[in-house]
Amino acid sequence: MNSRKKKIFITFGILWLMVTGIVIGARVVPHVYPSYCVGCGDCVRECPRPGRAIRIIRGKAVINPEECIKCNKCVDVCSYGAVR
Ligand code: SF4
Ligand code: SF4
Repeated sequence: MNSRKKKIFITFGILWLMVTGIVIGARVVPHVYPSYCVGCGDCVRECPRPGRAIRIIRGKAVINPEECIKCNKCVDVCSYGAVR
C-alpha cells in the first residue's frame, strides 16, 4: 500500500469511528421531568417493554434504566416534552 492510499485509509477509518461513536454515544436512557408529565401513558403504550422499562407511578412516568433499551420511542411520543 503506497503512502497516499494509507492516508486515505486512515482518514476514512477515523471518520467511521467518529460517526459510529456519535451514533452509539447518542443512545442514552431518557430522563423524565415529572413536572411536565401529565400521566397520559402514551410513553408506556409506545414502549417495547411496557411496565418494565417505563410505567406510571402515582400519576407520573418512571423509567427503569436496567430494563430500558434506549430506543427513545417514549421521547418521540410524549407531546408534553416530559421525556428527554
Ligand atoms: S407520554 Fe409524556 S406526559 Fe404522557 S405519561 Fe409519558 S412522560 Fe408523562
Ligand atoms: S427508551 Fe424505549 S425502552 Fe426505554 S423507556 Fe423509552 S420507550 Fe421504553
